[in-house]
Amino acid sequence: AMLALTACGSGREGDGGNGSGTTAKGFAANSVIGVALPARTSENWVLAGDLFTNGLKEAGFNPDVQYAGASTTVADQQAQITAMATKGAKVIVIGATDGAQLSTQVAAAKKAGVKVIAYDRLILNTPDLDYYVAFDNFKVGQLQGQALLDGMKKKKPKGPYTIELFSGSPDDNNAGVFFNGAMDVLKPEIDKGNVVVGSKQTDIKQTAIQGWKPEGAQARMDQLLTSTYGSKELDGVLSPNDTLARAIIQSIKSAGKTVPVVTGQDSEVESIKSIMKGEQYMTINKDTRNLVKETINMVKALQAGSEPQINDTKSYNNGTKIVPTYLLPPVAVTKDNAAEAYANDPKLAPLTKP
Ligand code: BGC
Repeated sequence: AMLALTACGSGREGDGGNGSGTTAKGFAANSVIGVALPARTSENWVLAGDLFTNGLKEAGFNPDVQYAGASTTVADQQAQITAMATKGAKVIVIGATDGAQLSTQVAAAKKAGVKVIAYDRLILNTPDLDYYVAFDNFKVGQLQGQALLDGMKKKKPKGPYTIELFSGSPDDNNAGVFFNGAMDVLKPEIDKGNVVVGSKQTDIKQTAIQGWKPEGAQARMDQLLTSTYGSKELDGVLSPNDTLARAIIQSIKSAGKTVPVVTGQDSEVESIKSIMKGEQYMTINKDTRNLVKETINMVKALQAGSEPQINDTKSYNNGTKIVPTYLLPPVAVTKDNAAEAYANDPKLAPLTKP
């Protein structure tokens, strides 16, 4: 159930939603605001929970922040959303655990007068989703693909380059968006023969890591090393995020091989350390503080009875409609620009000092 509908790279921003319209009425300032997050598969989700709790409280709301459990995530999240609507939440913010399995809950929320915002991950196949707020995830993939090429060229000026491809969990709509963004950059090089996927596993189904589980990535990398890299050299690995990148690097090191150029995403503490010591090549800065802030701005607008600010009205078709979206720009980070990229992040900035 994966739709990756940010097909084109053009016309993705500045198409002008403006915030001037008003809806009939807002709601009480101390209302319950539900926030349903997926399992804590990476640091960004852990951070988001705290930021929502504190930020919504500070704005005067009554936050109800829930995570889906580690095992039965879909059923958990469905029940949490239903409970939030029953409790009288005025807005429910959802970081979907499986974007294709929430249409019933979103429809019920809508019927109860709740506004629903998809956070970071799109919710599919429902006309009842009101807004989407996220980093430009297609762009994330493009930045990863480009960094992979640049990194390999730096190490070895002339190709062809041998790579392997990894993608995220098939139930997360973002996984396909990231992969398509990366392939938008890599495919032309593969077609020209400048880049070769050693295992020939280029279909997203072959590259997916269920549940974004690092042990899944490590096991697949182990297998690839055995099947394909007995004597062959591996120049690069497209990894969709930091947790998987570190697992892939672990696998390669255990096999006694040189660490190739490996991409990542999320700016996790352990990956910044790895980048600074020259192991992982890059990550993406999608500052969770900004994403939560923009989401809370949406909630505030709805509370005031006005239309939230959006800046994209064409990229995200969820299979039923084009969802009004607010997109933030992701930033590619390597050792070269880490200090600058995290200058205003008190947790990460110290890690970038020599
Ligand atoms: C997020 C990524 C994260 C992944 C796994 C995705 O939906 O956009 O930032 O790495 O989930 O948690």
